[in-house]
Amino acid sequence: MDKLDFETWSRRAALWGVQYRDRLADRPVRARTSPGEIYRAIPPKPPETGEEMERIFEEFETLIEPGMTHWQHPRFFAYFPSNAAPVSVVAEYLVTAMAAQCMLWQTSPAATELETRMVEWLGAALGLPETFSGVIQDSASSATLAAVLMMRERTLDWQGNRAGLSQMPRLRIYCSDQVHSSIDRAIWIAGIGQDNLVKIPADPLSGTLPPEQLEAAIRADIAAGHTPAGVIGCVGATGTGASDDIAKLVEVAHAHDLLIHVDAAWAGSAMICPEFRDLWAGVEGADSVVFNPHKWLGASFDCSAHFIRDPEILVRTLAIQPEYLKTHGQDGIINYSEWSVPLGRRFRALKLWFLLRFHGLEGLRSMIRDHVRWAGDLHDRLAATPGVEIVTAPVLSLFSFRREGALDADTIAHVTAINDDGRIYLTQTRVDGRLVIRFQAGSHAMREADIDIAYAAILDGLGLKAEER
Ligand code: PLP
Repeated sequence: MDKLDFETWSRRAALWGVQYRDRLADRPVRARTSPGEIYRAIPPKPPETGEEMERIFEEFETLIEPGMTHWQHPRFFAYFPSNAAPVSVVAEYLVTAMAAQCMLWQTSPAATELETRMVEWLGAALGLPETFSGVIQDSASSATLAAVLMMRERTLDWQGNRAGLSQMPRLRIYCSDQVHSSIDRAIWIAGIGQDNLVKIPADPLSGTLPPEQLEAAIRADIAAGHTPAGVIGCVGATGTGASDDIAKLVEVAHAHDLLIHVDAAWAGSAMICPEFRDLWAGVEGADSVVFNPHKWLGASFDCSAHFIRDPEILVRTLAIQPEYLKTHGQDGIINYSEWSVPLGRRFRALKLWFLLRFHGLEGLRSMIRDHVRWAGDLHDRLAATPGVEIVTAPVLSLFSFRREGALDADTIAHVTAINDDGRIYLTQTRVDGRLVIRFQAGSHAMREADIDIAYAAILDGLGLKAEER
Protein backbone atom coordinates (compact mmCIF):
# COMPACT_ATOMS: atom_id res chain seq x y z
CA MET A 1 0.00 0.00 0.00
CA ASP A 2 1.55 3.30 -1.01
CA LYS A 3 1.39 6.49 0.99
CA LEU A 4 -1.58 7.91 -0.87
CA ASP A 5 -3.63 4.73 -0.54
CA PHE A 6 -2.70 4.52 3.12
CA GLU A 7 -4.06 8.03 3.60
CA THR A 8 -7.23 7.37 1.57
CA TRP A 9 -8.11 4.18 3.39
CA SER A 10 -7.20 5.52 6.81
CA ARG A 11 -9.60 8.40 6.25
CA ARG A 12 -12.27 6.05 4.96
CA ALA A 13 -11.87 3.73 7.95
CA ALA A 14 -12.04 6.61 10.41
CA LEU A 15 -15.14 8.00 8.69
CA TRP A 16 -16.71 4.55 8.66
CA GLY A 17 -16.15 4.34 12.42
CA VAL A 18 -17.93 7.63 13.01
CA GLN A 19 -20.89 6.66 10.80
CA TYR A 20 -21.05 3.19 12.36
CA ARG A 21 -21.47 4.66 15.82
CA ASP A 22 -24.04 7.07 14.48
CA ARG A 23 -26.35 4.41 13.05
CA LEU A 24 -26.05 1.94 15.94
CA ALA A 25 -29.14 3.07 17.83
CA ASP A 26 -31.39 2.03 14.92
CA ARG A 27 -29.99 -1.46 14.63
CA PRO A 28 -30.65 -4.71 16.45
CA VAL A 29 -28.04 -5.05 19.19
CA ARG A 30 -27.27 -8.71 18.70
CA ALA A 31 -26.08 -10.13 15.37
CA ARG A 32 -28.77 -11.86 13.36
CA THR A 33 -26.70 -14.43 11.52
CA SER A 34 -26.89 -18.17 11.86
CA PRO A 35 -23.90 -20.30 12.82
CA GLY A 36 -21.57 -20.99 9.86
CA GLU A 37 -23.17 -18.41 7.56
CA ILE A 38 -20.20 -16.05 7.47
CA TYR A 39 -17.62 -18.84 7.47
CA ARG A 40 -19.23 -20.34 4.39
CA ALA A 41 -19.24 -16.99 2.60
CA ILE A 42 -15.45 -16.70 2.90
CA PRO A 43 -13.39 -18.59 0.31
CA PRO A 44 -11.54 -21.59 1.74
CA LYS A 45 -8.13 -20.46 0.40
CA PRO A 46 -6.37 -17.06 0.47
CA PRO A 47 -5.96 -15.22 -2.87
CA GLU A 48 -2.72 -15.77 -4.78
CA THR A 49 -2.68 -12.20 -6.01
CA GLY A 50 -3.64 -9.00 -4.21
CA GLU A 51 -7.19 -7.69 -4.44
CA GLU A 52 -8.60 -4.20 -4.77
CA MET A 53 -9.06 -2.39 -1.46
CA GLU A 54 -12.44 -1.14 -2.67
CA ARG A 55 -13.67 -4.74 -2.87
CA ILE A 56 -12.14 -5.77 0.46
CA PHE A 57 -13.72 -2.80 2.18
CA GLU A 58 -17.06 -3.39 0.53
CA GLU A 59 -17.14 -6.98 1.74
CA PHE A 60 -16.22 -5.82 5.19
CA GLU A 61 -19.33 -3.66 5.11
CA THR A 62 -21.66 -6.20 3.54
CA LEU A 63 -20.43 -9.45 5.10
CA ILE A 64 -18.59 -8.70 8.34
CA GLU A 65 -20.39 -5.72 9.82
CA PRO A 66 -23.86 -7.37 9.72
CA GLY A 67 -22.37 -10.36 11.51
CA MET A 68 -21.23 -8.31 14.48
CA THR A 69 -22.97 -7.90 17.82
CA HIS A 70 -22.79 -4.21 18.64
CA TRP A 71 -21.04 -3.76 21.96
CA GLN A 72 -21.06 0.04 21.59
CA HIS A 73 -24.84 0.06 21.09
CA PRO A 74 -26.61 2.37 23.56
CA ARG A 75 -28.87 -0.52 24.61
CA PHE A 76 -26.25 -3.19 25.16
CA PHE A 77 -27.39 -4.47 28.57
CA ALA A 78 -25.84 -7.96 28.42
CA TYR A 79 -22.77 -9.33 30.27
CA PHE A 80 -20.80 -6.23 31.27
CA PRO A 81 -20.09 -3.29 28.99
CA SER A 82 -16.95 -3.14 26.89
CA ASN A 83 -16.97 0.58 26.31
CA ALA A 84 -14.67 2.20 23.79
CA ALA A 85 -15.25 5.92 24.21
CA PRO A 86 -14.62 7.71 20.90
CA VAL A 87 -11.58 9.45 22.35
CA SER A 88 -10.04 6.11 23.23
CA VAL A 89 -10.68 4.89 19.68
CA VAL A 90 -8.74 7.90 18.40
CA ALA A 91 -5.84 7.00 20.71
CA GLU A 92 -5.98 3.43 19.44
CA TYR A 93 -5.61 4.65 15.83
CA LEU A 94 -2.33 6.24 16.89
CA VAL A 95 -1.20 3.16 18.79
CA THR A 96 -1.99 0.97 15.80
CA ALA A 97 -0.20 3.34 13.44
CA MET A 98 2.96 3.25 15.57
CA ALA A 99 2.50 -0.47 16.24
CA ALA A 100 5.21 -0.54 18.88
CA GLN A 101 5.92 -3.63 20.94
CA CYS A 102 6.35 -2.31 24.43
CA MET A 103 7.94 -5.22 26.30
CA LEU A 104 10.94 -3.33 27.70
CA TRP A 105 11.56 0.28 28.66
CA GLN A 106 14.03 0.62 25.80
CA THR A 107 11.61 -0.79 23.22
CA SER A 108 9.27 2.17 23.91
CA PRO A 109 10.32 4.45 26.78
CA ALA A 110 7.25 6.69 26.47
CA ALA A 111 4.91 3.70 26.64
CA THR A 112 6.53 2.43 29.84
CA GLU A 113 6.65 5.79 31.56
CA LEU A 114 3.11 6.74 30.53
CA GLU A 115 1.93 3.36 31.83
CA THR A 116 3.53 4.03 35.22
CA ARG A 117 1.87 7.43 35.39
CA MET A 118 -1.52 6.16 34.20
CA VAL A 119 -1.63 3.43 36.81
CA GLU A 120 -0.81 6.11 39.39
CA TRP A 121 -3.63 8.28 38.00
CA LEU A 122 -6.07 5.37 38.15
CA GLY A 123 -5.02 4.46 41.69
CA ALA A 124 -5.58 8.07 42.78
CA ALA A 125 -8.93 8.16 40.93
CA LEU A 126 -10.06 5.05 42.79
CA GLY A 127 -8.87 6.33 46.16
CA LEU A 128 -6.21 3.61 46.52
CA PRO A 129 -3.19 4.43 48.66
CA GLU A 130 -0.06 5.63 46.84
CA THR A 131 1.80 2.61 48.20
CA PHE A 132 0.32 0.43 45.43
CA SER A 133 2.35 -0.04 42.26
CA GLY A 134 0.70 -1.21 39.11
CA VAL A 135 0.79 -2.51 35.60
CA ILE A 136 -1.70 -2.65 32.74
CA GLN A 137 -2.48 -6.27 31.87
CA ASP A 138 -4.45 -7.37 28.83
CA SER A 139 -7.33 -8.80 30.85
CA ALA A 140 -8.52 -9.42 34.38
CA SER A 141 -7.95 -13.12 33.70
CA SER A 142 -4.25 -12.43 33.15
CA ALA A 143 -4.03 -10.25 36.27
CA THR A 144 -5.67 -12.97 38.35
CA LEU A 145 -3.34 -15.59 36.88
CA ALA A 146 -0.36 -13.39 37.79
CA ALA A 147 -1.77 -12.97 41.32
CA VAL A 148 -2.26 -16.74 41.74
CA LEU A 149 1.26 -17.39 40.49
CA MET A 150 2.52 -14.87 43.05
CA MET A 151 0.64 -16.72 45.78
CA ARG A 152 2.06 -20.05 44.62
CA GLU A 153 5.68 -18.94 44.33
CA ARG A 154 5.73 -16.96 47.56
CA THR A 155 4.28 -19.91 49.45
CA LEU A 156 6.75 -22.34 47.87
CA ASP A 157 9.68 -20.02 48.53
CA TRP A 158 10.03 -19.46 44.77
CA GLN A 159 10.68 -23.15 44.05
CA GLY A 160 7.52 -23.93 42.03
CA ASN A 161 8.75 -22.43 38.75
CA ARG A 162 12.00 -24.36 39.04
CA ALA A 163 11.00 -27.71 40.47
CA GLY A 164 7.36 -28.05 39.41
CA LEU A 165 4.59 -28.97 41.82
CA SER A 166 4.72 -32.77 41.95
CA GLN A 167 6.83 -32.97 45.11
CA MET A 168 5.35 -29.85 46.69
CA PRO A 169 2.79 -29.58 49.48
CA ARG A 170 -0.86 -29.37 48.49
CA LEU A 171 -1.56 -25.64 48.06
CA ARG A 172 -5.02 -24.25 48.81
CA ILE A 173 -6.62 -21.02 47.62
CA TYR A 174 -9.90 -19.70 49.01
CA CYS A 175 -12.76 -17.72 47.52
CA SER A 176 -16.56 -17.63 47.51
CA ASP A 177 -18.72 -19.58 45.07
CA GLN A 178 -19.66 -16.30 43.37
CA VAL A 179 -16.29 -15.64 41.73
CA HIS A 180 -15.74 -15.41 37.99
CA SER A 181 -14.58 -18.46 36.03
CA SER A 182 -11.23 -16.70 35.40
CA ILE A 183 -10.34 -17.64 38.99
CA ASP A 184 -10.87 -21.35 38.25
CA ARG A 185 -8.79 -21.08 35.10
CA ALA A 186 -5.96 -19.30 36.91
CA ILE A 187 -5.91 -22.18 39.40
CA TRP A 188 -5.80 -24.74 36.58
CA ILE A 189 -3.05 -22.96 34.67
CA ALA A 190 -0.98 -22.40 37.82
CA GLY A 191 -1.06 -26.18 38.32
CA ILE A 192 -2.75 -25.88 41.71
CA GLY A 193 -5.75 -27.91 40.60
CA GLN A 194 -9.47 -27.27 40.80
CA ASP A 195 -9.82 -29.49 43.88
CA ASN A 196 -7.54 -27.10 45.75
CA LEU A 197 -9.65 -24.06 45.02
CA VAL A 198 -11.79 -23.98 48.12
CA LYS A 199 -15.07 -22.33 47.15
CA ILE A 200 -16.94 -21.35 50.25
CA PRO A 201 -20.70 -20.90 49.71
CA ALA A 202 -21.62 -17.23 49.85
CA ASP A 203 -24.26 -16.05 52.28
CA PRO A 204 -27.53 -16.50 50.33
CA LEU A 205 -28.82 -13.05 51.23
CA SER A 206 -25.76 -10.84 50.86
CA GLY A 207 -23.75 -12.94 48.38
CA THR A 208 -20.74 -12.42 50.67
CA LEU A 209 -18.12 -14.97 51.65
CA PRO A 210 -18.62 -15.46 55.42
CA PRO A 211 -15.22 -14.56 56.98
CA GLU A 212 -15.67 -17.01 59.86
CA GLN A 213 -16.08 -19.82 57.35
CA LEU A 214 -12.95 -18.70 55.57
CA GLU A 215 -11.11 -18.82 58.88
CA ALA A 216 -12.53 -22.29 59.62
CA ALA A 217 -11.58 -23.61 56.17
CA ILE A 218 -8.01 -22.37 56.50
CA ARG A 219 -7.65 -23.90 59.96
CA ALA A 220 -9.11 -27.22 58.81
CA ASP A 221 -6.71 -27.35 55.86
CA ILE A 222 -3.70 -26.62 58.04
CA ALA A 223 -4.83 -29.37 60.42
CA ALA A 224 -5.14 -31.75 57.45
CA GLY A 225 -1.56 -30.99 56.38
CA HIS A 226 -2.43 -28.76 53.39
CA THR A 227 -0.73 -25.43 52.75
CA PRO A 228 -2.92 -22.34 52.37
CA ALA A 229 -1.49 -20.02 49.72
CA GLY A 230 -3.94 -17.16 49.24
CA VAL A 231 -7.43 -15.70 49.29
CA ILE A 232 -9.38 -14.17 46.40
CA GLY A 233 -12.09 -11.66 47.19
CA CYS A 234 -14.64 -10.40 44.74
CA VAL A 235 -16.31 -7.01 44.37
CA GLY A 236 -19.20 -6.88 41.91
CA ALA A 237 -19.44 -10.55 40.90
CA THR A 238 -20.51 -11.25 37.34
CA GLY A 239 -23.82 -12.95 38.09
CA THR A 240 -25.59 -10.51 40.38
CA GLY A 241 -22.90 -8.07 41.55
CA ALA A 242 -22.28 -9.80 44.89
CA SER A 243 -19.34 -8.42 46.86
CA ASP A 244 -17.25 -9.77 49.69
CA ASP A 245 -16.44 -7.91 52.88
CA ILE A 246 -12.92 -7.10 51.77
CA ALA A 247 -11.80 -5.62 55.11
CA LYS A 248 -12.72 -8.86 56.89
CA LEU A 249 -11.11 -11.07 54.24
CA VAL A 250 -7.91 -9.02 54.42
CA GLU A 251 -7.90 -9.49 58.19
CA VAL A 252 -8.28 -13.28 57.95
CA ALA A 253 -5.79 -13.64 55.07
CA HIS A 254 -3.11 -11.57 56.76
CA ALA A 255 -3.59 -13.29 60.11
CA HIS A 256 -2.44 -16.45 58.27
CA ASP A 257 0.27 -14.62 56.31
CA LEU A 258 -1.61 -15.18 53.03
CA LEU A 259 -1.73 -12.85 50.05
CA ILE A 260 -5.17 -11.58 49.08
CA HIS A 261 -6.19 -10.65 45.54
CA VAL A 262 -9.37 -8.64 44.86
CA ASP A 263 -11.25 -9.06 41.58
CA ALA A 264 -13.22 -5.88 40.91
CA ALA A 265 -13.12 -6.29 37.12
CA TRP A 266 -16.44 -4.57 36.52
CA ALA A 267 -17.27 -2.68 39.73
CA GLY A 268 -13.80 -1.14 40.02
CA SER A 269 -14.68 1.59 37.49
CA ALA A 270 -17.45 2.84 39.78
CA MET A 271 -14.91 3.38 42.55
CA ILE A 272 -13.98 6.70 40.92
CA CYS A 273 -17.20 7.87 42.65
CA PRO A 274 -16.44 8.18 46.39
CA GLU A 275 -20.05 7.38 47.32
CA PHE A 276 -19.71 3.81 45.96
CA ARG A 277 -16.45 2.96 47.71
CA ASP A 278 -18.19 1.24 50.65
CA LEU A 279 -18.53 -1.69 48.26
CA TRP A 280 -14.82 -2.43 48.59
CA ALA A 281 -14.07 -0.94 52.01
CA GLY A 282 -10.76 -2.33 53.25
CA VAL A 283 -9.29 -2.73 49.76
CA GLU A 284 -6.29 -0.67 50.81
CA GLY A 285 -5.16 -3.73 52.80
CA ALA A 286 -5.21 -6.08 49.77
CA ASP A 287 -2.02 -7.29 48.12
CA SER A 288 -3.33 -7.31 44.57
CA VAL A 289 -6.37 -5.64 43.00
CA VAL A 290 -7.63 -5.79 39.44
CA PHE A 291 -10.24 -3.74 37.59
CA ASN A 292 -10.95 -3.35 33.90
CA PRO A 293 -11.03 0.19 32.49
CA HIS A 294 -12.08 -1.66 29.31
CA LYS A 295 -15.41 -2.53 30.87
CA TRP A 296 -17.29 0.47 32.20
CA LEU A 297 -14.78 3.32 32.12
CA GLY A 298 -14.43 3.58 28.35
CA ALA A 299 -10.83 2.58 27.54
CA SER A 300 -11.27 0.33 24.55
CA PHE A 301 -10.61 -3.38 24.98
CA ASP A 302 -8.11 -4.50 26.16
CA CYS A 303 -7.00 -2.65 29.27
CA SER A 304 -6.91 -4.14 32.73
CA ALA A 305 -5.38 -2.22 35.65
CA HIS A 306 -3.54 -4.43 38.11
CA PHE A 307 -2.42 -2.86 41.39
CA ILE A 308 0.14 -4.64 43.54
CA ARG A 309 1.30 -3.79 47.02
CA ASP A 310 4.73 -5.39 46.64
CA PRO A 311 5.74 -5.68 42.97
CA GLU A 312 8.93 -7.47 44.05
CA ILE A 313 6.82 -10.59 44.59
CA LEU A 314 5.36 -10.33 41.10
CA VAL A 315 8.67 -9.62 39.39
CA ARG A 316 10.40 -12.41 41.30
CA THR A 317 7.64 -14.75 40.13
CA LEU A 318 7.58 -13.78 36.45
CA ALA A 319 10.87 -12.16 35.44
CA ILE A 320 13.11 -14.12 33.13
CA GLN A 321 16.15 -12.62 31.44
CA PRO A 322 17.72 -14.47 28.56
CA GLU A 323 20.55 -12.45 27.05
CA TYR A 324 18.35 -11.03 24.27
CA LEU A 325 16.08 -9.41 26.87
CA LYS A 326 18.83 -7.99 29.06
CA THR A 327 19.00 -4.21 29.20
CA HIS A 328 22.61 -3.65 30.19
CA GLY A 329 23.25 -0.39 31.98
CA GLN A 330 19.54 0.18 32.64
CA ASP A 331 19.22 -1.57 35.97
CA GLY A 332 16.39 -0.32 38.15
CA ILE A 333 14.27 0.70 35.16
CA ILE A 334 10.82 -0.91 34.88
CA ASN A 335 10.47 -3.50 32.12
CA TYR A 336 6.75 -4.27 32.29
CA SER A 337 7.08 -7.61 30.51
CA GLU A 338 8.49 -8.83 33.83
CA TRP A 339 5.15 -7.95 35.45
CA SER A 340 2.92 -10.02 33.18
CA VAL A 341 2.63 -13.48 31.65
CA PRO A 342 2.98 -12.50 27.95
CA LEU A 343 6.31 -11.04 26.86
CA GLY A 344 4.96 -8.80 24.09
CA ARG A 345 2.87 -5.85 25.17
CA ARG A 346 0.60 -3.39 23.38
CA PHE A 347 0.77 0.32 24.17
CA ARG A 348 -2.35 0.40 26.35
CA ALA A 349 -1.62 3.50 28.39
CA LEU A 350 -2.20 5.97 25.56
CA LYS A 351 -5.97 5.43 25.40
CA LEU A 352 -6.18 5.92 29.16
CA TRP A 353 -4.26 9.16 28.91
CA PHE A 354 -6.58 10.44 26.17
CA LEU A 355 -9.71 9.20 27.98
CA LEU A 356 -8.88 10.60 31.42
CA ARG A 357 -7.78 13.96 30.03
CA PHE A 358 -10.66 14.41 27.58
CA HIS A 359 -13.51 13.46 29.93
CA GLY A 360 -11.85 14.30 33.24
CA LEU A 361 -12.84 12.27 36.28
CA GLU A 362 -15.99 14.37 36.70
CA GLY A 363 -17.15 13.47 33.19
CA LEU A 364 -16.63 9.77 33.83
CA ARG A 365 -18.23 9.96 37.27
CA SER A 366 -21.33 11.54 35.84
CA MET A 367 -21.62 8.76 33.22
CA ILE A 368 -21.41 6.10 35.93
CA ARG A 369 -23.84 7.91 38.21
CA ASP A 370 -26.32 8.20 35.32
CA HIS A 371 -26.10 4.48 34.64
CA VAL A 372 -26.64 3.61 38.29
CA ARG A 373 -29.62 5.97 38.48
CA TRP A 374 -31.19 4.76 35.22
CA ALA A 375 -30.80 1.09 36.18
CA GLY A 376 -32.44 1.98 39.51
CA ASP A 377 -35.33 3.63 37.64
CA LEU A 378 -35.88 0.58 35.46
CA HIS A 379 -35.69 -1.64 38.53
CA ASP A 380 -38.38 0.45 40.24
CA ARG A 381 -40.64 0.33 37.20
CA LEU A 382 -40.28 -3.43 36.85
CA ALA A 383 -40.76 -3.91 40.58
CA ALA A 384 -44.05 -2.02 40.32
CA THR A 385 -45.22 -4.05 37.32
CA PRO A 386 -47.58 -6.93 38.10
CA GLY A 387 -46.17 -10.20 36.78
CA VAL A 388 -42.52 -9.23 37.22
CA GLU A 389 -40.47 -10.62 40.09
CA ILE A 390 -37.26 -8.81 41.06
CA VAL A 391 -34.79 -11.48 42.14
CA THR A 392 -31.72 -9.46 43.14
CA ALA A 393 -31.70 -5.77 43.99
CA PRO A 394 -29.42 -3.37 42.10
CA VAL A 395 -25.72 -3.44 42.88
CA LEU A 396 -24.51 -0.29 41.15
CA SER A 397 -26.24 -0.71 37.76
CA LEU A 398 -26.88 -4.49 37.83
CA PHE A 399 -30.02 -6.32 38.96
CA SER A 400 -31.96 -9.45 38.04
CA PHE A 401 -35.59 -10.38 37.53
CA ARG A 402 -37.88 -12.89 35.87
CA ARG A 403 -41.52 -13.30 35.07
CA GLU A 404 -43.42 -14.37 38.17
CA GLY A 405 -43.71 -18.13 38.34
CA ALA A 406 -41.39 -18.67 35.36
CA LEU A 407 -39.65 -22.05 35.15
CA ASP A 408 -36.14 -22.15 33.66
CA ALA A 409 -37.45 -23.06 30.22
CA ASP A 410 -39.80 -20.05 30.35
CA THR A 411 -36.96 -17.74 31.34
CA ILE A 412 -34.82 -18.95 28.43
CA ALA A 413 -37.78 -18.34 26.11
CA HIS A 414 -38.20 -14.83 27.56
CA VAL A 415 -34.51 -13.95 27.11
CA THR A 416 -34.61 -15.28 23.56
CA ALA A 417 -37.75 -13.28 22.76
CA ILE A 418 -36.27 -10.09 24.20
CA ASN A 419 -33.02 -10.50 22.27
CA ASP A 420 -34.65 -11.58 19.01
CA ASP A 421 -36.70 -8.41 19.12
CA GLY A 422 -33.42 -6.52 18.75
CA ARG A 423 -34.15 -3.30 20.62
CA ILE A 424 -32.06 -4.41 23.58
CA TYR A 425 -29.66 -7.21 24.45
CA LEU A 426 -29.39 -8.90 27.84
CA THR A 427 -28.40 -12.27 29.27
CA GLN A 428 -29.41 -14.75 31.96
CA THR A 429 -27.68 -16.03 35.08
CA ARG A 430 -28.48 -18.46 37.86
CA VAL A 431 -29.53 -17.44 41.37
CA ASP A 432 -30.16 -20.14 43.98
CA GLY A 433 -30.20 -22.72 41.22
CA ARG A 434 -32.86 -20.98 39.12
CA LEU A 435 -32.48 -18.92 35.98
CA VAL A 436 -33.03 -15.18 36.14
CA ILE A 437 -32.71 -12.37 33.61
CA ARG A 438 -29.80 -10.05 34.24
CA PHE A 439 -29.83 -6.35 33.41
CA GLN A 440 -26.88 -4.00 33.59
CA ALA A 441 -26.70 -0.44 32.32
CA GLY A 442 -23.27 0.72 31.25
CA SER A 443 -23.02 1.69 27.60
CA HIS A 444 -21.09 4.90 27.05
CA ALA A 445 -23.66 5.81 24.38
CA MET A 446 -26.73 5.15 26.54
CA ARG A 447 -29.22 7.95 27.23
CA GLU A 448 -32.07 8.13 29.75
CA ALA A 449 -34.68 7.48 27.05
CA ASP A 450 -33.13 4.07 26.45
CA ILE A 451 -34.66 2.96 29.73
CA ASP A 452 -38.15 3.48 28.27
CA ILE A 453 -37.20 1.35 25.29
CA ALA A 454 -35.75 -1.32 27.60
CA TYR A 455 -38.90 -1.37 29.72
CA ALA A 456 -41.14 -1.82 26.68
CA ALA A 457 -38.89 -4.51 25.15
CA ILE A 458 -38.71 -6.44 28.43
CA LEU A 459 -42.47 -6.41 28.94
CA ASP A 460 -43.02 -7.53 25.37
CA GLY A 461 -40.48 -10.33 25.79
CA LEU A 462 -42.06 -11.46 29.05
CA GLY A 463 -45.40 -11.61 27.30
CA LEU A 464 -46.87 -9.00 29.62
CA LYS A 465 -47.74 -6.44 27.02
CA ALA A 466 -51.29 -7.44 26.28
CA GLU A 467 -52.32 -8.43 29.78
CA GLU A 468 -50.63 -5.97 32.08
CA ARG A 469 -49.81 -2.69 30.34
N1 PLP B 1 -13.87 -10.97 36.85
C1 PLP B 1 -15.13 -10.56 36.75
C2 PLP B 1 -15.90 -10.23 37.99
C3 PLP B 1 -15.72 -10.44 35.48
O1 PLP B 1 -17.01 -10.05 35.37
C4 PLP B 1 -14.97 -10.73 34.33
C5 PLP B 1 -15.56 -10.61 32.98
O2 PLP B 1 -16.65 -10.18 32.79
C6 PLP B 1 -13.64 -11.16 34.50
C7 PLP B 1 -13.12 -11.27 35.76
C8 PLP B 1 -12.79 -11.51 33.32
O3 PLP B 1 -12.39 -10.36 32.66
P1 PLP B 1 -11.42 -10.40 31.39
O4 PLP B 1 -12.29 -10.65 30.23
O5 PLP B 1 -10.77 -9.06 31.38
O6 PLP B 1 -10.45 -11.50 31.62
